[in-house]
Amino acid sequence: MKQTATFIPTLRETPADAEVKSHQLLLRAGFIRQNTSGIYSFLPLGKRVLQKVENVIREEMEAVNSVEVFLPAMQQAELWQETGRWYSYGDELMRLKDRNGREFALGATHEEVITSLLRDEIKSYKKLPLNLFQIQSKFRDEKRPRFGLLRGREFLMKDAYSFHATPESLDETYNDMMQAYTNIFTRLGLNFRAVIADSGAIGGKDNHEFMVLSEIGEDTIAYSDSSSYAANIEMAAVNVDYPVPAEAPKTLEKIETPDQKTISQVAEFLRTTADQCIKTLVFKADEELVLVLSRGDHDINEVKVKHATGAKVVELATPEEVKELLACDIGSIGPVNVPSSIRVFADHAIKSIANGVTGANEEGFHWINVTPDQDFSVEAYADLRFVQEGDPSPDGEGTIQFAKGIEVGHIFKLGTRYSEDMKATFLNDQGRAMPYIMGCYGIGVSRVMAAVAEQFQDENGFTWPDAIAPYEVHIVPVNMKDETQRELGQELYKELQSNRYEVLLDDRTERAGVKFADADLIGLPLRVTVGKKAAEGILEVKNRRTGETFEWKREELIEQVQ
Ligand code: ATP
Ligand code: MG
Ligand code: MG
Ligand code: MG
Repeated sequence: MKQTATFIPTLRETPADAEVKSHQLLLRAGFIRQNTSGIYSFLPLGKRVLQKVENVIREEMEAVNSVEVFLPAMQQAELWQETGRWYSYGDELMRLKDRNGREFALGATHEEVITSLLRDEIKSYKKLPLNLFQIQSKFRDEKRPRFGLLRGREFLMKDAYSFHATPESLDETYNDMMQAYTNIFTRLGLNFRAVIADSGAIGGKDNHEFMVLSEIGEDTIAYSDSSSYAANIEMAAVNVDYPVPAEAPKTLEKIETPDQKTISQVAEFLRTTADQCIKTLVFKADEELVLVLSRGDHDINEVKVKHATGAKVVELATPEEVKELLACDIGSIGPVNVPSSIRVFADHAIKSIANGVTGANEEGFHWINVTPDQDFSVEAYADLRFVQEGDPSPDGEGTIQFAKGIEVGHIFKLGTRYSEDMKATFLNDQGRAMPYIMGCYGIGVSRVMAAVAEQFQDENGFTWPDAIAPYEVHIVPVNMKDETQRELGQELYKELQSNRYEVLLDDRTERAGVKFADADLIGLPLRVTVGKKAAEGILEVKNRRTGETFEWKREELIEQVQ
């Protein structure tokens, strides 16, 4: 590509509102432009990098028999209502109406869409397992879009979904995906770790996040200094030996008056831990599991309650409002999906439910055998806290250290969470209808691009790894008015192209200083300068990453460039 034909609007100054290095340089080197908060245009160079990241991902997905599809971004509300996420997903879900007032969501994720697709098509265990992926824009109305592509409101994601007849089959695919992810992030040259993770809003059991180690990461990884143990700090808290009551309550009994003391103690417990670990409390009074606590995303200073009863969502913002709601509305407390210290409390409640306690939301019903002092009270969990540096590692090897990480990928074993709600079943080998067992696997494609951009740069600009550099070679004739230089530049450009190299030719009549500064900024792996020595057939070559320079004879170009 000739630079006079393409569009690379480089900037000399660092844009004031760009806080992190990747965002600054992606703007300065002319790879992206912000449209509005959290929404970006990819300019020609940015688009090429994105496409290369996509292709690495595609190759590794196909290597583990994941097959590409393309699903709609616009999704009817009914699908999200079937799984309840229309009510529980919260403000991050972009919602809109068509001309007839019918409601839709813009895809924040695609479990509902893909499950609805397969439930009508895959009826027999003989057609399973099946693993499908897509690469598509996702929409999430992030509260605090920031750091450029790292946290956008419209961003590119690779999301894969697998469907199985048996848990063993899911395990196998999960391991394949773990390997594929490891290959992808290794090929992209990222310094990453797979960590045990919390499942956030998606729900499910086993899951791992892939974290790129970086100072600007919004997540904290707790890892052992002498073993392979690594977990998201949210998860690490539960893996440390905190007191969990051995016996879960097993019975329910109708009691006439709510035990105000218990409830207010729960409220107090929530309130006192709120600024440490709770962001969202979701009350689902129409289901047997009524309370969902989650820390949410990087906003740990606010308590927010959503009271979801059918379509009614009430948001409460202050601890007082939480208390009020707890005191008057809640018949039982069974948190799911709960991170950090709260999880111990949650696990306990989940165990109770697993032990056959149901119907807790019927009016006037409350847990019994849940004594304030032992179970939900402040006292029993007084020493709950996040894991800290220096704590013993849960695997008994070494002590815990912290590092900051950028979540670039996330893989989950969903189990039957979605297929049950959506009645998506297949006939097993006994002819019985069973819900699909599912897994889901995400990679933030545009976030990965930013994570690479963050890692591969120096004071002069990008130092792209070969795997995703927008072009391989930059040919820079220093003086376009010099006929020898101009023509040699053209020749080299043609020659490299016909040998299937991806080449950018700086055919602008700019000053040498501008050309070199832009070339450094853009950061292609190899720069071939056609300057004063062009007349003698000598090319000055620079390896952008190492800074090494060479002189090549013009005839040796193709041989040397490999
Ligand atoms: P985060 O914790 O950063 O908000 P998430 O856990 O909500 O991410 P997932 O639902 O696991 O995200 O989505 C899969 C992947 O999509 C993430 O691992 C991440 O790489 C990417 N991703 C999520 N949200 C964004 C965003 N707002 N901008 C860019 N990429 C994102
Ligand atoms: Mg998120
Ligand atoms: Mg996350
Ligand atoms: Mg995640």
